[in-house]
Amino acid sequence: MHMDKNPAIPDASAGPAVYRQYAREWLRVNLPEHMRADSLAYRTPTLDECRDWEASMYDAGLAGMTWPKAYGGLGLTLREHLVVNKEVGALAMPESVSSIGKELAGPIIQTVGTEEQKQLFLPRILSMSNYWCQGFSEPDAGSDLARLRTRAVQEGDTWRINGQKIWTSGAAKAHYCLLLTRTGTVADKHRGLLMFAVPMDTPGIRVVPIKSIDGKESFAEVFFDNVVVPDSARLGAPDEGWNAAIRVLSIERATNRMYRAWRFECELRQLVAACKSDPELSKLLDDGHYQRRIGDVVGEIAALKGLVERTVDQLVAGDRIGARGSLTKLYWSECHQAFMGLALSIVSKVTPRSSALAQRARKHFTTAYLFARAETIYAGTTEVQLDIIAQRIMDLPKDIK
Ligand SMILES: Cc1cc2nc3c(=O)[nH]c(=O)nc-3n(C[C@H](O)[C@H](O)[C@H](O)COP(=O)(O)OP(=O)(O)OC[C@H]3O[C@@H](n4cnc5c(N)ncnc54)[C@H](O)[C@@H]3O)c2cc1C
Repeated sequence: MHMDKNPAIPDASAGPAVYRQYAREWLRVNLPEHMRADSLAYRTPTLDECRDWEASMYDAGLAGMTWPKAYGGLGLTLREHLVVNKEVGALAMPESVSSIGKELAGPIIQTVGTEEQKQLFLPRILSMSNYWCQGFSEPDAGSDLARLRTRAVQEGDTWRINGQKIWTSGAAKAHYCLLLTRTGTVADKHRGLLMFAVPMDTPGIRVVPIKSIDGKESFAEVFFDNVVVPDSARLGAPDEGWNAAIRVLSIERATNRMYRAWRFECELRQLVAACKSDPELSKLLDDGHYQRRIGDVVGEIAALKGLVERTVDQLVAGDRIGARGSLTKLYWSECHQAFMGLALSIVSKVTPRSSALAQRARKHFTTAYLFARAETIYAGTTEVQLDIIAQRIMDLPKDIK
């Protein structure tokens, strides 16, 4: 079927099936070949290329699905969001360079922000004019976030902030930081926490990149040395920070990057296609050991899809996801880490004489394997998710005597 590059965005009343067809065709026609990780034409896209791509997706009605129309969104439901995510996942396109803005900062601003903050921030996030980073973790406050020390002291109409954040993804490119601070002492634990939207060019902010195992500098330490911001940078009431942070974390665990299961399936197709393209690797597909392991991945992806669909049904029915976000986080991270272990064991058999597709797969899955090591850490470690599931979903005792 031939499709115009810029067809009219379907009306919401046309229903999810029409939106799915539209999204599928638009993405297929418009995604540049060199941005497809499974293509021989692939080259790592620049930040500007990623920004332009995501801005064009927004213009085409494929971002801000559930955001109110008043702030640049489409005012649709999580069902249309899921429909688009499935199509996004089905293509090997780059990860969003603005997921912290679109999927964490945006939703929390919609919940606790003032009207001025919504007007100021939300349209810019969707149009890709502003990137955000998330300043929660500190050197002594990761899993136990309530131990954070970064202090905010009120001085008339301003706040003075001092402290340090760590592992702040995208800090070097961010225009704003979704910053969690405390107004009292560490002994207050989750009381007296306050969230801010801090412009990253405020004097006193210093970003020191950290290199990760894959050689990239995608996160950083961020130091706040007498950083002064106006009261209008405050997101929510003083003392509301903990509730806001928990909401951010439950979004991060349950609905952020909802396309994952479909992207894992796309990676599996890439891996199998690479094997089939090469006489030596294709023998692995007839080997019972690899067949069983690939079968396990297929089953886990199917279960993850079911979990995501159920979460969407529950949210659309007006339920709050709360601790159940930990089930999704635990499942996708463990499932993908195991899958990448399998992928690495296959692509480690690629030699300089292997097919071009196999060489491409080796590059892709080696990097993906390394990043998957972090998947059971960020957004809350596996051990912490197990703790939450045990205590808050299964109601098991905290201490076993
Ligand atoms: C790639 C990546 C990107 C990140 N991006 C960001 C970001 O943008 N913004 C941000 O704020 N943070 C970010 N983080 C930080 C991340 O949220 C923390 O690393 C995570 O919460 C764990 O905290 P920690 O590193 O301090 O480890 P710790 O909390 O010190 O944990 C160390 C070990 O102890 C275990 N442990 C801790 N408490 C318990 C417990 N109660 N029961 C059992 N075991 C426990 C943990 O599971 C872990 O194995 C990122 C991390 C990574 C890896």
